[in-house]
Amino acid sequence: MNTIDKLPKSHVFNGKRYKIRWRRPPGRTPKELKGHKIDGLCSDPRDPATNRILYVFPDDTEENVVNTILHESLHAELWMLDEETITRVANSLSGLLEKIKIISKERQFGQFSNFSIT
Ligand SMILES: [Zn+2]
Repeated sequence: MNTIDKLPKSHVFNGKRYKIRWRRPPGRTPKELKGHKIDGLCSDPRDPATNRILYVFPDDTEENVVNTILHESLHAELWMLDEETITRVANSLSGLLEKIKIISKERQFGQFSNFSIT
């Protein structure tokens, strides 16, 4: 069993169940984004349940992956917040977790060296 299979496939945010996909959002390759990479995406909580998906790209350092998890989870929980606020809070929290040494800037999240990006 691949490590990725052990990660949760869904979670309830603010009363709405989201599917969790541990990969980059579809159609968002670095080339399409002209060098900017998108490591996560959160659908609108008002979308039908089948379309409510939270994407997190897991092939990165613990701090970056946890930052993405926090960022997208904050969107799901507090959809009305603007991008700047979400980014500020996620950066603050992941920075604190890194200071406490719960997560590291150096360690890879999980052991995803064989994880293939689809
Ligand atoms: Zn965002």
